[in-house]
Amino acid sequence: MASPPPAAAAALARQDCNNGCSAECTGEGGSKEVVETFKAEDLIITPATVLKEKPDPNTLVFGTVFTDHMLTVEWSSEFGWEKPHIKPLQNLSLHPGSSAFHYAVEPSLGVKKPTKALLFVILSPVGPYFSSGSFNPVSLWANPKYVRAWKGGTGDCKMGGNYGSSLFAQCEAMDNACQQVLWLYGEDNQITEVGTMNLFLYWINEDGEEELATPPLDGIILPGVTRQSILDLAHKWGEFKVSERYLTMDDLNTAVEENRVREMFGSGTACVVCPVSNILYKGETIHIPTMENGPKLASRILDKLTDIQYGREESDWTITVS
Ligand SMILES: *Cc1c(COP(=O)(O)O)cnc(C)c1O
Repeated sequence: MASPPPAAAAALARQDCNNGCSAECTGEGGSKEVVETFKAEDLIITPATVLKEKPDPNTLVFGTVFTDHMLTVEWSSEFGWEKPHIKPLQNLSLHPGSSAFHYAVEPSLGVKKPTKALLFVILSPVGPYFSSGSFNPVSLWANPKYVRAWKGGTGDCKMGGNYGSSLFAQCEAMDNACQQVLWLYGEDNQITEVGTMNLFLYWINEDGEEELATPPLDGIILPGVTRQSILDLAHKWGEFKVSERYLTMDDLNTAVEENRVREMFGSGTACVVCPVSNILYKGETIHIPTMENGPKLASRILDKLTDIQYGREESDWTITVS
């Protein structure tokens, strides 16, 4: 799980100080110790007394098995960040409306800036997303009547509020025998994201160039780490044009008709890459020949990224922790 930036949290705490409402600046009032760091030497460890049986790695279902321990760090506007604590995994009651995988735990009801929050890290061993190494392509439902994110909103942050409201469209996609929503935006039906994944189109563009394209980070796109990794890899390979650019449903339709589309895939931490085979749009199914084309590029990216993740390949992205 991505770690929220401690510096930002500290800045938030300081901002509260500037508003004149916090004890830690003045050193007055609070009896609790203020830590404001995530140093290993501050770590409190409370081991679980009973350990669970280790699961069979061959039958792991994504996101259902958890480790015996979790990490929590509490924050309050009064005391800032407290000491990090590794303790037995426990149930949490959370307020996901004010969340950024970084939860508000205010014991009150009301819409306001939280005065208390909890950072927690839970770990879950997973098997490969696509078992037996073969891709299962997804079909997408594209309907401009729902938008996932908008300019000036929070679509570019992993905020809980973005996800609850997307479930309705997801249900409608499933009612239409599609697995995921292809999120569109604007009058020209720009293609933005797939479900909770970023989106890539590998095609011959309108100028006849071989191109890997993904929408730009203009405020409505979640800046996924997998997205950035794919862009960085593709730039490094230098074999085709790599662009952050707008793509519309018209661009896609024309390219499909002219046989210029090679692959379309989503990207995210869970699956790494997820090939797209069909899009249901305005009552018609547009077939995307991702699987017929290998998918050569999607497979190459999956292999490369998992080799780096499993340490089978050297990379300057890998940091050894001793
Ligand atoms: C999490 C997420 C992604 C993918 O981000 P990664 O960091 O690659 O896992 C893309 N879009 C949305 C809306 C997401 O929530």
